[in-house]
Amino acid sequence: MEHPENDEQYTGLNVNSGIAQPPSVNPYFKPKARRRILSVQEYVEGILKGNVTILSKAVTLVESSIPEHQALAQEVIEKCLPYTGNSRRIGITGVPGAGKSTSIDVFGLHVLKRGGKLAVLAIDPSSERTKGSILGDKTRMEKLSVHPDAFIRPSPSAGSLGGVARKTRETIVLCEAAGYDNIFVETVGVGQSETAVHSMVDFFLLIQLAGTGDELQGIKRGIMEMADGIVINKADGDNIDRAKLAQAEFRNALHLFPLPPSGIAPEVLTYSGYFEIGIDEVWQMIDRYFDAVKKSGYFERKRHEQEKYWMYESINDQLKANFYNDPVIEDMLKAKEQLVLGSRQSSFIAARDVLDYYFNKKS
Ligand code: GDP
Repeated sequence: MEHPENDEQYTGLNVNSGIAQPPSVNPYFKPKARRRILSVQEYVEGILKGNVTILSKAVTLVESSIPEHQALAQEVIEKCLPYTGNSRRIGITGVPGAGKSTSIDVFGLHVLKRGGKLAVLAIDPSSERTKGSILGDKTRMEKLSVHPDAFIRPSPSAGSLGGVARKTRETIVLCEAAGYDNIFVETVGVGQSETAVHSMVDFFLLIQLAGTGDELQGIKRGIMEMADGIVINKADGDNIDRAKLAQAEFRNALHLFPLPPSGIAPEVLTYSGYFEIGIDEVWQMIDRYFDAVKKSGYFERKRHEQEKYWMYESINDQLKANFYNDPVIEDMLKAKEQLVLGSRQSSFIAARDVLDYYFNKKS
C-alpha cells in the first residue's frame, strides 16, 4: 500500500504496511473446568477407601470457617463416626527445641514398621500458616513426610484455642475413618493447648531435656501432672550422664504428685531421637500402658469422658458464635463498651442489657 509518508521528500516517520498480527486470544485455550465441590457421599466414600486427596480436602472443609463448608463437614464427620475409635491416640508435647519433630519422625517410622498407618496432627493456636515454623510442617519430619502410610497435617491456622482444638479433634475422626490406626497429636509444651490435647488422646507423652540446669524449672506443674509418660531426649554423647541425672530427679519429683486417674504411675525414660537410641524402650512403655488401661477398663472410661467433654465444648463454641455473630448484638456491644469505658454504666448492667435482648429475642 502506498503511503504519502513514503515519498522521498517526506522527512517524518515511515509507516510500513506491516504483517498480519496473530489473534490476541489463544484459539487453543480451553476454559478450566471449575473445581467441583464433592458431595457428602463422595467425601465419605473417598475417606473410607483411604483416598488421601479426598481426606485432605475433607480436613480443609473442617478447618474452613465458611458456614456452608462447616455444615458439609459436620455431615461428613457424622457419616464417618461409625468407622472410628479403633486407634491409638498419642499426644506428644515438649518445649520448642526439645526434639519433637526429630522424635516424631523416628517414633513414627518405628510404629509403621509394625504395619498400619499413622496420622500426625498438631495443635498450635499461635501459629499462622504464613509464618515460620509450623507444628506438623512436613519438612520437619523428613522421613515420615515421604512415607506412603503417613499423613501429616499442620495445625489449623490461628484462632481461638477451643476452635483450633475442636478442628483437630474432628480431623482425628476423619483420619480414623480413613484407616489411620495411629494418631499423634503434637503440641508445644508451653501453654494451655496441653489440656485440649489431653482431652483427645489416650496417652500423653512429655518430652523433656536434661542438662539445662534446674531440671524442673520452666515445666508447668499442670503439664507434669497430665503426663502418662516422661521421656528425656538427647541422651547421647556426653549428655548421657546428665540425662540419667534428670531421670532420677523426675522420678523423685513424680513421687510428690498424686497418682493419675489411670492408676498407673508415669514412667521416666531416657532416649535419643537423633541417634535413635532407646526408641524401642519408649514404645514398650507405651504398649505396657495400653495393655494395662484396656484391661482395667480405664481406656473406655476415659474415651467416654472425652466424648462428654467435646459435647460441652461444641455447645459452648456454638452458643458463643450464635451470640457474638448477631449483628444487633455486635452493635449493642460496641455502644455498651463506650458506656462502660466512660464509666457511664456499670459492666454488670451493660452485660445484663445485652443478655436481656438476646434471651428475649430467643423466647
Ligand atoms: P522441636 O522444636 O521440639 O520440634 O525440636 P527439633 O526436633 O526441631 O530439634 C531441635 C534441635 O535438637 C535440632 O537441632 C535437632 O537436631 C536436635 N536434636 C533433636 N533430637 C536430638 C537428640 O536426640 N540428640 C541430639 N544431640 N540432638 C537432638
